[in-house]
Amino acid sequence: MQENQVTFRPSLDRRRILLIEDEPVNQEILKMYLEESYDLVVAGTATEAIGIIRSQYELLSLILLDLNLPDFSGIEILRQVKADSRFARLPVIVMTSDRDAEVECLTLGAIDFISKPYPQQKVVLARVLRTIELVEDRDTLRWTERDRLTGLYNKEFFNRYAVQLDVHHREYPTDAIVVNINHFHTINDRYGKAYGDEVLRRIADNILSIVENAGGIAARSEADNFWIYCPHNSDYRALFDAVQGDLSGDGENRIRLRMGVYSEVDKELSIERRFDRAKLAADSVKDSVTKVIGLYTGTMYETELLSEQLIEDFSAAIRERQFLVFYQPQYDVRPGEPLLASAEALVRWRHPTLGMVNPGLFIPLFEKNGLISALDHYVWSEAAAQIRRWKERFGLTLPVSVNVSRVDLYDLDIVEKLRDIVDRNGLSGGELALEITESAYTEDAEQIISTVSRLRELGFRIEMDDFGSGYSSLNMFTELPIDSMKLDMQFVRNAFAERQDTRLLEIIIRLAESYGLHTIAEGVETAEQMLTLKTMGCEIVQGYYFSRPLPAEEFETFITARG
Ligand code: C2E
Ligand code: CA
Ligand code: CA
Repeated sequence: MQENQVTFRPSLDRRRILLIEDEPVNQEILKMYLEESYDLVVAGTATEAIGIIRSQYELLSLILLDLNLPDFSGIEILRQVKADSRFARLPVIVMTSDRDAEVECLTLGAIDFISKPYPQQKVVLARVLRTIELVEDRDTLRWTERDRLTGLYNKEFFNRYAVQLDVHHREYPTDAIVVNINHFHTINDRYGKAYGDEVLRRIADNILSIVENAGGIAARSEADNFWIYCPHNSDYRALFDAVQGDLSGDGENRIRLRMGVYSEVDKELSIERRFDRAKLAADSVKDSVTKVIGLYTGTMYETELLSEQLIEDFSAAIRERQFLVFYQPQYDVRPGEPLLASAEALVRWRHPTLGMVNPGLFIPLFEKNGLISALDHYVWSEAAAQIRRWKERFGLTLPVSVNVSRVDLYDLDIVEKLRDIVDRNGLSGGELALEITESAYTEDAEQIISTVSRLRELGFRIEMDDFGSGYSSLNMFTELPIDSMKLDMQFVRNAFAERQDTRLLEIIIRLAESYGLHTIAEGVETAEQMLTLKTMGCEIVQGYYFSRPLPAEEFETFITARG
């Protein structure tokens, strides 16, 4: 990193000064004084000066103002600068031989004076420098809100600073880099918050020395997310090692980092957006055992475009009923012959130009921006109407489980909404089961538990989805308002993988049973898996072994077959 050193801070840069002066002789003297240290832009009239201020205010560090100009008075310029919030931070030094004008200028916001005829060069230089430093310190103080824990910038200040860097280094290739700790919450859970804080501080220290050496700026944007904005340097491995420092050597409590790089950023994008891309790159190596650095790629760009399109198309899709609800049967495997017991409703999107879009693509996206609530509401209504139709046609209730996203549980009206859906279709809560993913319970446990408890009191059956995918502890069973436990597909799959080891699976099924919970296994694909689960006491089985999710009409053959 050292050899590729560049200066990349506004403070080390040549500052631009706007000189407003119509006398050629005075212009020449000040050029001679200042041009060696500063970038000088000269305006000979007030009109010209105003034009330059409007177009270059972000680039200017100081205005040197002569009061006697051919078109109108310099006082008027001063007044205009100070009246506009965009320019008001610009320091103005007034140059005049008229001592009486000084008071008026001061009240109008001038910061200093230089008398005419001009004093010696070093006096002028010293005043110019002092003024610039003063203002920049003040600006910095105003915006510097550092993150208390690590001393790095906070996100707001970082954003402003990055914009500033762009202004001064527009053509300079720059990288946006995100650093993240894998499973930081488990580190906190296991070793305590004080240890977690210490880890954050050590990473921050490492990052700080990197940007101090190589230029650039760094922030802790939130929790365990660090942002680095620095001159482009393609040796990301060295950067990663420098961030990691000696953190990896901690034996058992090893800290694993991942890094995402959006290289040579497009400066037309907002700062947030650039770091979204770096984050996307970081997340692409999240579950990798071998890779710790992810680069933002063309494919991710495609994904980004696709995401934008899906979000844009969402409301039309709801309006035009492009979302379809498929049903996957769930069989009770306890009797000699498996018996159709219920179904899970799974959404599909028949997109007019993209064809069938996989929920794996749009569900996480809609969870992020909140659209999921509207979609889930739609799916719940469709599923409830379907239960009613089957009831009417076949004279039986086939309970359907719907997915309830974590986001839905923060909706204060969710209880009323669900009750309303059930009421409208003349159903009872017991006919609609709610699948709530395991990870929701660990997030904001209290609020979620109280919402789920209210739903359960209304008669809805609550199923914990994806059990075994996260890091829930078994004692959660005793505390949570749930009726059934749905074993995560991957968990089931792992148990049946090469070195078949179903002991843990069995323990969990027995444990659930001892707490009076029903057990459902999903992702079951073979007869062998089904039979093993049955022997272990699992009640309900769902998976391709019985059927893929199907449109309602096709699903009906299963109902008919049940007789
Ligand atoms: P999930 O709730 O865990 O749903 C189970 C997923 O496993 C479904 O994928 C299902 O089609 C698939 N699956 C079922 N049996 C098998 C099997 O034997 N083998 C394999 N390989 N896969 C099987 P799908 O339909 O693509 O849904 C993916 C995820 O999207 C769901 O995971 C759920 O989290 C979410 N999702 C689907 N519909 C909705 C919805 O209406 N609302 C919300 N919030 N999420 C939904
Ligand atoms: Ca589910
Ligand atoms: Ca699941």
